[in-house]
Amino acid sequence: MGYDPLTDEQREIRDLVRTLARERVAPRAAEIDKKGEFPWDMVELFREHELFGLPFEEQYGGTGTGALMVLVAVEELSKVCATTGLIMAVQELGSLGIKLAGTDAQKERFLPRLASGEWLAAYALTEPGSGSDSAAMRTEARLDGDEYVINGGKRFITNAGVAGLYVVFAKTDPESGHSGISAFVVEAETPGFEVGRIEPKMGIKGSTTGEIFFNDMRIPADNLLGEEGDGFKIAMRILDRSRPGIAAQGLGLAQGATDYALEYAKTRETMGKPIAQHQLISGMLADMETKCEAARGLLYKTGLMIDEDAPDSELTKISAMTKLYCTDVAMEVTTDAVQILGGYGYMQEYPVERMMRDAKITQIYEGTNQIQRLVIAREMVKEQRGSLLAGVG
Ligand SMILES: Cc1cc2nc3c(=O)[nH]c(=O)nc-3n(C[C@H](O)[C@H](O)[C@H](O)COP(=O)(O)OP(=O)(O)OC[C@H]3O[C@@H](n4cnc5c(N)ncnc54)[C@H](O)[C@@H]3O)c2cc1C
Repeated sequence: MGYDPLTDEQREIRDLVRTLARERVAPRAAEIDKKGEFPWDMVELFREHELFGLPFEEQYGGTGTGALMVLVAVEELSKVCATTGLIMAVQELGSLGIKLAGTDAQKERFLPRLASGEWLAAYALTEPGSGSDSAAMRTEARLDGDEYVINGGKRFITNAGVAGLYVVFAKTDPESGHSGISAFVVEAETPGFEVGRIEPKMGIKGSTTGEIFFNDMRIPADNLLGEEGDGFKIAMRILDRSRPGIAAQGLGLAQGATDYALEYAKTRETMGKPIAQHQLISGMLADMETKCEAARGLLYKTGLMIDEDAPDSELTKISAMTKLYCTDVAMEVTTDAVQILGGYGYMQEYPVERMMRDAKITQIYEGTNQIQRLVIAREMVKEQRGSLLAGVG
């Protein structure tokens, strides 16, 4: 069902993930949400079925099946549990810095432990005074012999306290804005690395979101990704390729909610017939399904473009559009699913209540949807389209 440009091998993996999602993840989703505890059993499930290998090349212990496959896996998992889908999306997010900017030696040092799932990964950009405005970050890194000394802290970091490896952004030139930022690989065991408060939150409750601190933390100079001052560029190149992962989480939520609302509408009767036969409900279902399919078309196109090594100049805009559209669809469609279930939709006993809460974060993290709109408009203004205004006036 739905748009499917996958190869036979990718389809096989999708079917495996779909089966695991239905049989092993779905029965745990409500409990993960209720307890708000990080689901290590889901990590174990991924390890057992080698799913952590999906974002990685074969030479580093991965499956070499590409970016589209990762998106499809995130979508399938998020149909039943957005917290579990996020584990896959963040393994990609936290590894992309090394994949895009790492030397061969850095890749050999770090990627195999991420591909096996021995380590979970995290991406640490945001600070208390620096979310949308990353140039305002205060964390500093100073070169001292063959080590960097890092001081400062990050906030709202997914996988805080559970990740084994963090890609951390810090100012090597505090006087400069974007051009003063550098990117580093930090192992969780490093002395001076501390995990602070883990935030209670509205949705994706099993995922940890927390503070991390660096107190005179020393890391080898070899852990610098790219050159000093490359950090902002690396952060943005990562986001161009990771935002589709959040889009996939949004699409999974939207499709999962649509599927649930459809089943419900076929069996719940009012005024002598199933509510699916009332036109106002069937019209909502049709809109929900259409939005999901449009979102899927955009998402898979972006996945294919990443796999075809499309240049950054093309990826930035399509990736922002994909994140914006799929996650706005997630919010609209999960809200409609709650409406279709009526009072039952508002009850914790039914999964659409959780899906609606989980959908909200997809419009906020990895760049809010306002920021996506700014990015899209900025790229549009840069494009040379030929003027339609010639001859007017
Ligand atoms: C659950 C969760 C997980 C997260 N995981 C991570 C993670 O793993 N790693 C990480 O680095 N960060 C993470 N974040 C941080 C997240 O990316 C930021 O919260 C987000 O980018 C917004 O930054 P902010 O919260 O500082 O909001 P602000 O930047 O203060 O924005 C506040 C509001 O103003 C709007 N706004 C800001 N600037 C503009 C502008 N120029 N034009 C128009 N509107 C604007 C925003 O859209 C928003 O509505 C996470 C956040 C949450 C809540």
